[in-house]
Amino acid sequence: MRSPVQRYLEHIVEQCGDAGGEVASYIPELADADPDQFALALATVDGHVYTVGDPEARYSIQSISKPFTYALALQDRGIAAVDESIDVEPSGDAFNEISLASDTGRPRNPMINAGAITAASLVEGETAPERFERVLDWYGQFAGRELEIDESVYRSELVTAHRNRAIAHMLREFEVLTGDPEDTLDQYVRQCSVSIDTRDLALMAATLANGGVQPRTGARVLEPRNVERVLSVMATCGMYDSAGDWISAVGMPAKSGVSGGIIAVLPGQVGLAVFSPRLDAHGNSTRGVTVCERMSEDMEMHLMHVG
Ligand code: GLU
Repeated sequence: MRSPVQRYLEHIVEQCGDAGGEVASYIPELADADPDQFALALATVDGHVYTVGDPEARYSIQSISKPFTYALALQDRGIAAVDESIDVEPSGDAFNEISLASDTGRPRNPMINAGAITAASLVEGETAPERFERVLDWYGQFAGRELEIDESVYRSELVTAHRNRAIAHMLREFEVLTGDPEDTLDQYVRQCSVSIDTRDLALMAATLANGGVQPRTGARVLEPRNVERVLSVMATCGMYDSAGDWISAVGMPAKSGVSGGIIAVLPGQVGLAVFSPRLDAHGNSTRGVTVCERMSEDMEMHLMHVG
């Protein structure tokens, strides 16, 4: 017998069909994604995962990597040290804006590329490959399994990463980055190419929902004060330049990526992940946003819900 939760999820997925939009094409490899792919996974803090669609379809994590790398930088260096390099103000700009805050000279937040590339550089490790190995292992601790990168996405993104290369060199010029900007760019592109599925993402989100303890392995991955910081930044800056619309309509800390994934976190309760590759003008999955809006309303998941 299907549980009422399972029946509900299948029902809304059916109701929230194709919502238009275009598959990302600025990374050539992403343009080949099947636009009709769909998956939803809801992981509870006690480790149950409900799924609809194809929860094992793989894709690259892209920007959903950003909160997790930021989390590792916080864990390695402490909040105060990371704050010396990356602000936590929403920018209202596109994720790949080539700019630093005019007052502080720092990237505005860790969810735009300038801040995410800086966060990657703050992960501890002697060299960029060493830092990346730690990042990969770290994402795996959230997902509860070992992960690997999608080499073809990595290569495709690296050769076309002109804008991110410009950002990395700008960061070096203004001494936000201290090491070789090309090495840090390579590390960042690798992190965006990590291959995950929607079940992994739901468990990664559920680890944040569960105060930093992975619901299935029981391992403490992230300290509670760092969880609080990561969720705060996701709430204010996680959905590109539509973060305000998102928090108003859905009301949960979230992060999206250009391959079509979205994670959302309801602290103390669930991690939600949706995957559908067609994107809106901001870079968020159109069907993913529709499904999350609907679930938030039906299940009263909005954190500011007052009845
Ligand atoms: N690797 C992509 C970039 O940096 C990530 C973009 C995204 O998912 O927002 O351009």
